[in-house]
Amino acid sequence: MSNIISHSKNLVNILHGEPQSAMSRRDALKFIGLTGGAAMMMGAPVAAEAGPSSDKNAKVLVVGGGAGGIMATARLHSALPNAEITIIAPNEIHLYQPGQVFVAAGLYVHDDLVNHNKDLIPSGVTWIKDEVKTFDPDNNKVTTRGGKEVAYDYMVVATGIVYHYDWIKGLTEADIGTNGISSVYLSDLEKGTAHGADVTWEWFEALKAAAAGGKKPTAIYTQPNTPIKCGGAPQKILYLSADHLRKENLAANFVFATNGGKLFGLPTIAASLGEVQKGYDTITNKFKHNLVAMDVKNKVATFEEHYTVKGEYDEDLKEFDMIEKKRMVDMNYDFIHVVPPMGPPQALVDSALGWQKGTAKGWLEVDQHTLQHKRYANVFGIGDVCGIPKGKTGGSARHHAPITVGNLVSQMNGDPLEKSFDGYTVCPLKTEYGKIIMAEFDYEGLAPSFPLDPAEPRWVWWAFDLYMLKPMYWHLMMKGWM
Ligand SMILES: Cc1cc2nc3c(=O)[nH]c(=O)nc-3n(C[C@H](O)[C@H](O)[C@H](O)COP(=O)(O)OP(=O)(O)OC[C@H]3O[C@@H](n4cnc5c(N)ncnc54)[C@H](O)[C@@H]3O)c2cc1C
Repeated sequence: MSNIISHSKNLVNILHGEPQSAMSRRDALKFIGLTGGAAMMMGAPVAAEAGPSSDKNAKVLVVGGGAGGIMATARLHSALPNAEITIIAPNEIHLYQPGQVFVAAGLYVHDDLVNHNKDLIPSGVTWIKDEVKTFDPDNNKVTTRGGKEVAYDYMVVATGIVYHYDWIKGLTEADIGTNGISSVYLSDLEKGTAHGADVTWEWFEALKAAAAGGKKPTAIYTQPNTPIKCGGAPQKILYLSADHLRKENLAANFVFATNGGKLFGLPTIAASLGEVQKGYDTITNKFKHNLVAMDVKNKVATFEEHYTVKGEYDEDLKEFDMIEKKRMVDMNYDFIHVVPPMGPPQALVDSALGWQKGTAKGWLEVDQHTLQHKRYANVFGIGDVCGIPKGKTGGSARHHAPITVGNLVSQMNGDPLEKSFDGYTVCPLKTEYGKIIMAEFDYEGLAPSFPLDPAEPRWVWWAFDLYMLKPMYWHLMMKGWM
């Protein structure tokens, strides 16, 4: 935590400025309770010990060394003392991706995101620093980019998500950080760099300077038509940058252009975000707008807008047909924050392990409760790569870990798979500097972990996210203890 404080440029304002003074005594007490709760978790029996174990000697392979891959490896290492565990992960550096938003907001610096997989992979686990090029689940083996064949008895796939900036015509990754374009997501997970987070902070500052220049700039924030990791990040950047201006009594024409039809899937959270927006001057929502092309030089973004019109009256149904239509809409901007379309890694798209058709094509075809592959019983999934209806967040991967590993061990022991994922997803929506709506939900709906109104923006969640989550991530989650 001292690391964060020493590096943070704006943290002093957060600690001594407006947001903290807005913290009520009640919130302060809750925060103390929360930190006490977290401290208790540190001393509690490790979750890995609570799950099933086996003394069998089997070859277990984990593919991917991000959040899910490292958590699965740590838990497998505890549960399977006699197994030969191998992880295939190209990245020596492991990035704490949720912190990219805090870098973008000027509160962390890039070094605050970085750790080393050599310090996270348990000793005794074989680490192949390479990437899987082909999966061959019919023969229980994979081949790496370097040409190595690795056989397994059981496999956990943890390869995460891939960004497709190239699906936006006219845009290249090299454009990000130029011509008023930013994207907090842009990173190279293999090299362990998050360039997009750094350029987004510069973009915040450039937007503020432009607003101070007299003319109200137009800033567009996009959200694509594919599943994305951390579905709240597009709006986090919107509200934090708008607040960055508001603190100086500056404003812009903020445009939230999303392929979706509402601010959030859950009505109470969407309503609360609507209230948040009223506090900014001025946010316009462009729903059902999907960014498809950009003229980078002339600062024009082209969206495919989808909408419905009334068709013929149907005498049998006694109602009008509704006809789906699409049209192209150009928008000029001074600044644009782009969230790229996302998809599964190519190795999965090309393999028998992905869903074979439809919109889920290429995402790992696992059961949404057991996280076991639907066609290959010795294969399990964890994290963003799973082709299930919810859960592309680090918090979801944390919930997957005991289920993925517990069910893999049960499968190995010939026991029924008893652990079930409920769809848990967490979205800490930063609504301003110092406030977060902690949206937690599962397959059924809202699922708050604490008895607090989840739709209320609170300082306590901000403090939890900014100060506590990162140490918890490195010291508890990555060790499989939480
Ligand atoms: C800007 C941003 C903000 C976020 N905010 C939050 C938040 O507030 N809360 C939250 O819970 N989550 C948040 N997340 C999401 C969270 O970081 C991810 O959901 C989480 O990292 C998923 O873990 P994973 O293991 O599935 O994927 P990753 O952690 O991305 O790891 C996947 C790994 O697999 C490797 N890989 C890929 N292909 C192969 C291959 N063929 N062979 C071997 N290795 C391969 C990659 O190099 C990578 O290291 C955020 C993410 C971003 C980018």
